[in-house]
Amino acid sequence: MIPRLKPRLGVSELAGALAIPTRRDIQRFESAFAASLGTRYALAFPYGRTAQLLLFETLGIRDKEIITPAYTCVVVQHASVCSGNRPVFVDSQESDFNMDLSRVPGMITEKTGAIIATSIFGYPCNLDLLDEIKKSARFDIPVIQDCAHSFGAEWKGRPVHKAGIAAYYGMNIGKMLTSIFGGMVTTEDSRLYEKLRALRDERLHPGSWLKSLRRLLYLLAIYPAFWEPVYTVVSWLERMGLLDAFTYPVERDFVIRMPKDHLEQITELEARIGSRNVERYPEILVRRREAAHYYLENLKIEDFKLPPRVEGATYSHFVVQVPDRREWHQRCQRKGLQVGQLIEYSVPEMDCYGAHSPRAFPVAARFARNTINLPVWGGVALARRVVERVKEAQRS
Ligand SMILES: *Cc1c(COP(=O)(O)O)cnc(C)c1O
Repeated sequence: MIPRLKPRLGVSELAGALAIPTRRDIQRFESAFAASLGTRYALAFPYGRTAQLLLFETLGIRDKEIITPAYTCVVVQHASVCSGNRPVFVDSQESDFNMDLSRVPGMITEKTGAIIATSIFGYPCNLDLLDEIKKSARFDIPVIQDCAHSFGAEWKGRPVHKAGIAAYYGMNIGKMLTSIFGGMVTTEDSRLYEKLRALRDERLHPGSWLKSLRRLLYLLAIYPAFWEPVYTVVSWLERMGLLDAFTYPVERDFVIRMPKDHLEQITELEARIGSRNVERYPEILVRRREAAHYYLENLKIEDFKLPPRVEGATYSHFVVQVPDRREWHQRCQRKGLQVGQLIEYSVPEMDCYGAHSPRAFPVAARFARNTINLPVWGGVALARRVVERVKEAQRS
């Protein structure tokens, strides 16, 4: 079975996990991360959502409306609520799955606390439009970049993560870059950095040895799991419902809450794994782009509406719109190809976010129902095999 995702964990990450901890592990990870993205400051967190939570607190954003995409990872809204704010939703645009920025000016009021600009699936958000919004808005609204899918994405040569007061990242094993779990904030603003660091060090208690042990066991379990023969068994267990949390570490239950350990700092173990994974990032990105470009050239299938080709995109996922998702999922499954279904919901339709009708955010509603994604982790070599299997699946 070809897995829909595969963290790029090699011997060096394993060696990193088993190395003797030092107090500087987390700092080293932050420096390596900042250097790889060419930013001045990076700060590590246990999760992306913890990063978002403490960022809001540092910026004094409370009792405010947070402008967020309807079509994004729901943890973004959870962190908004858990920081004492209220998310408001913007529908997607057809072209690239991102929030339709043309709708944002009309939503800005004195109650607006922040705009979460997301580059979903690695498609850079339109920074020209974002600049215009900032210029014409009657209030000074901070823009926070959600770069969980877009480490180093560029809009016309401009790095997305620098186009705002700060950017945050998630680094669980499903992300492009991983420290097993973990989150990061980058910023160019020294005052924000100092304040956020002070707040973090005050609010987060150090990761316990028990947490480190759990993370180590998790790593040892996933290390062989994505190897294809093993993955065939793993994905079967997953389908049987025996392994849910295994390859989907993001909490799936649609209740507004943060993970129990969200105020326990990232462990040194994760930081050491992250430091080594950062070194691979240039290669990780090249492979994804090559796979995506190969699909765009070679996947001309009647049923498939292909995503756009955008310079500077990171292709965290290669997302295709299909008329019948379940059918394609099953057909591919039978040919030994696992396709992903991320993101398979529109946040405002959830009970906890108002159970809005699909008609209220129709584009997000459609993406939530008709998208599959193809594996991009293995470059052209993998993309070739995937295309063959998709074509077999089409004929079946
Ligand atoms: C993964 C993700 C996050 C943060 O995730 P954590 O699990 O909290 O690290 C934020 N935004 C998006 C779009 C994501 O996919």
